[in-house]
Amino acid sequence: MVIGLLLALQLRTPVYDRVILGGHVMDPASRLDAVRNIGLTGGRIAIITTHAIRGRDTVDARGLVVAPGFIDLHAHGQTPETYRFYSLDGVTTALELELGTSDVAAWYRERSAGELVNYGVSIGHIKVRMAVMHDSGTWMPVSDGAYRAATPAEIGEIAQRLEIGLHEGAVDIGAGFPYTPAATRDELLAVFRVAARTKTPIHVHIRPGVAGLKEALALAGETHAPLHVVHINSAGLAETPAMLEMIRAARASGHDVTTEAYPYDAGMTEIQSATIQDVYKNAPDERLAELEWAGTGERLNRESFERYSQIGGPVVVHTNTEQMVAVAINSPLTIFASDAYWQKGTGHPRTTGTFAKVLGRYVREAHSLSLMEAIRKMTLMPAQRLEPRVPAMRQKGRLRVGADADITIFDPATVVDRSTYREPSLSPVGIQHVIVNGVSVVANGRAVESVAPGKAVRAEAPR
Ligand SMILES: [Zn+2]
Repeated sequence: MVIGLLLALQLRTPVYDRVILGGHVMDPASRLDAVRNIGLTGGRIAIITTHAIRGRDTVDARGLVVAPGFIDLHAHGQTPETYRFYSLDGVTTALELELGTSDVAAWYRERSAGELVNYGVSIGHIKVRMAVMHDSGTWMPVSDGAYRAATPAEIGEIAQRLEIGLHEGAVDIGAGFPYTPAATRDELLAVFRVAARTKTPIHVHIRPGVAGLKEALALAGETHAPLHVVHINSAGLAETPAMLEMIRAARASGHDVTTEAYPYDAGMTEIQSATIQDVYKNAPDERLAELEWAGTGERLNRESFERYSQIGGPVVVHTNTEQMVAVAINSPLTIFASDAYWQKGTGHPRTTGTFAKVLGRYVREAHSLSLMEAIRKMTLMPAQRLEPRVPAMRQKGRLRVGADADITIFDPATVVDRSTYREPSLSPVGIQHVIVNGVSVVANGRAVESVAPGKAVRAEAPR
């Protein structure tokens, strides 16, 4: 009788697609912080339990932390090469929400066969402006898209194309004022009005410093648009503490304002872009030495600046300090987002190391951030930023039954970045297993080949 009962129970015990056994599960939403087994079925979390469970595939997570997959709101590379970099850094969802695209439907169509990680895009004011103004640049505006004021008819067309992008499912609206210096306040107000009317967050690369943040907060305040300020570290430099305080105050008075940061004290952008040309075209040599040609590592002077400006390509911008980066990273207000940048075989080490760097350098070495808080800033916070417009994000950024099985498993004792400005493609150590929609994309610290479980993160059309 007893044996019969045990047999019946055993037969009824489900076998999961994949089980993650004995890991230290850390979930910021539920505050779960304990050893558990997790069973996955059909791309979702089916069980989180202290009981023994069985699966067709087993991940041994003993001694490792099991966290929700990291969500990156700011990832410029959206290619198989960069998705692979991100997965090795623990990222399961990589979104290009600043530059975005001018053709949302085409952007998603190109990836509809599936990618390594989940992907999504904004309708980008910069890209739309390039199209409407017939800019000659390929990636960022270099002619009329940057330097000519739009006519009222062109502003109307820009606003209309933003609305079309939102109807096609863009995650939000992206903008970068230093890349479009000729855009007037009327034009920016038109962009913010689209965001407000559709309750869409607008992710803005603001003009530098307190003045730049004031401008963006005023546009958001006047129109009631939700505002997300990208990379407060590089927008703020020495004014980062004052700007974080402004954002805290705006939030306290009821404004929907959020921000993000990446853990590096140099930035990177295209040398031909207005944000570099406007600042450095008349600068003396000692100022030009802030710029490093990514391809060779040389610091620039007048002659090399002119020469590389003709060729085009990425420059490293050395204008911040470690101290200010730490202020941004340790603030409870900041989401972690990489601003991943990769072009023609080179790029910024943040492309490959952002999340491991936070876990290794800030959590383990500096103790300036608890592990749970760091995970929250990589998972729950970015999911919550997007949820009002993209309800599917409620199934990401948490470990609970029914949630998408996007999971990152790392060794808290060893996790750390390895990439540098000279060797930006080096993947981190300690990110052991990464699972996207239930499918393993990193196993034992190595990329899994020939899988494409990543799905589109896409908004529903606004009403
Ligand atoms: Zn960016």
